[in-house]
Amino acid sequence: MTAQLDTYPQAVRDAVARTREVVSALHAELPRWGLVVWTAGNVSQRVVVDPAAGPGEHDLLVIKPSGVTYDELTPEAMVVCDLDGELVDGERSPSSDTAAHAYVYRNMPEVGGVVHTHSTYATAWAARGEEVPCVLTMMADEFGGPIPIGPFALIGDDSIGRGIVETLRGSRSPAVLMRNHGPFTIGKDAKAAVKAAVMCEEVARTIHVARQLGEPLPIAQADVDSLYDRYQNVYGR
Ligand SMILES: [Zn+2]
Repeated sequence: MTAQLDTYPQAVRDAVARTREVVSALHAELPRWGLVVWTAGNVSQRVVVDPAAGPGEHDLLVIKPSGVTYDELTPEAMVVCDLDGELVDGERSPSSDTAAHAYVYRNMPEVGGVVHTHSTYATAWAARGEEVPCVLTMMADEFGGPIPIGPFALIGDDSIGRGIVETLRGSRSPAVLMRNHGPFTIGKDAKAAVKAAVMCEEVARTIHVARQLGEPLPIAQADVDSLYDRYQNVYGR
């Protein structure tokens, strides 16, 4: 049995309450941007007690409960788990993808948010096991190169989480298309991971459309590098 939330310090419980609000509100973005159907898809965020201190001893995550429709999602409905994916607080079971999210947080301390969807175009690339090539300047900005394909992995153990981490560690991309499954995205927080999920679907769709009439033109690697560097380090900072 894992520790229940009321045994955690007040500062942690306050941070959990704030995180529940954020994660609940961000779930509304998934249907809004057409990324999910029915109850599919989930957003999680690491609970950060002291942003200056980084990940600490009370590491928790907040995620969507399993099998709940998007209309029913409220801050109170969000569930809290430890970084082994064990339930710490909540009235329902955590999303069945919680183990994958938890694995990412355990192994990528810089990640504060994770999103998973089966958005149509990104998932179509995943079904073919084909990376999305970097042929748009907006894609160089956001992804710094292609959106890579992760391995085929079944739910039930750490295989999905391991596939996500191993693929993204070797990439600038905040998105990975798990083969025959769909996109997982990461960010410094859940909002950044949701943005990556929206952008991933957008470029997957546009490049799919471009492909219908011919082969998209490549962008020289030096230009990809320069676009990525400018967008990540100069633009909007
Ligand atoms: Zn899935």
